[in-house]
Amino acid sequence: MELLPAPGGSGIVFRRTDLDNFEIPAIGRNVAKVSYATSLMRQGVLISTTEHLLSALIGMGIDNVIVELDNLELPILDGSALPYVEAFTRVGIRTQRRRRESIRVLSPIEVREGDKFIGVYPGSGYSIDYTIDFPSPVGHQHSSVDLAADTYGATIAPARTFGYRSLEKQMREMGLIRGASPQNIIVLGTKGPENGPLRFSDEYVRHKILDLIGDLALAGHRIEGHVVAERAGHAMHTALVSRLLKDRSAWELACTPAKPVPAAAAKDDAPATLPGRVAPALAGI
Ligand SMILES: [Zn+2]
Repeated sequence: MELLPAPGGSGIVFRRTDLDNFEIPAIGRNVAKVSYATSLMRQGVLISTTEHLLSALIGMGIDNVIVELDNLELPILDGSALPYVEAFTRVGIRTQRRRRESIRVLSPIEVREGDKFIGVYPGSGYSIDYTIDFPSPVGHQHSSVDLAADTYGATIAPARTFGYRSLEKQMREMGLIRGASPQNIIVLGTKGPENGPLRFSDEYVRHKILDLIGDLALAGHRIEGHVVAERAGHAMHTALVSRLLKDRSAWELACTPAKPVPAAAAKDDAPATLPGRVAPALAGI
């Protein structure tokens, strides 16, 4: 996989180098099936497990990038978004001239399904409240994050995905989690994580926030608003994206002030007002 700079306004676009550079933009229209991971499909061409990379891009304030892949699946790495964040920090993030456009939420959009809930509300910046309630040993956890506070890299990106040992056989039989190993997933036994220690005591809910940020990236623009999720998952996250995109009266495209550029980012000649951002070429992930 290789990440290339893209012009302002181009958004996040996947490119299959093994299929004549076929492009699949990361937008809601291309969401394919959603179960344990989020996939994109256009004209029968698939890209799977997009959420961790998309989360890292949005979390680090990157709007425009081309993601070249020579197969259908993104690397799982260590099960978190931290390796991406470290790579972005290594190569730097450049501020672009063109102003960033965000989806500014004007009125609430909510999706409820049984005891699962997700909603997005007007608010300045991009903030998330997430509550989960999983069987033991995860239990009830709640966490919130304000992405405008530049906390993503330290508080959300390192949180790893998790899975129950008791469900492993069933999932493998369904052809899922083929690449799963204790190196890239927290394995939950009856007494707790089998391959601890955890990176945070509430790592599970932080990972759900990580996934949510990645899935909401499929709105095609950064969200400006406040998101509340309870017992949600990829299907609920992407249902919110389609509900939001359909209700054109609930939001507007607005130019938003840029976050401060991280210390590692290269400064270019662009004015600092309301820019979009781009990741320079990033190879070897
Ligand atoms: Zn995940």
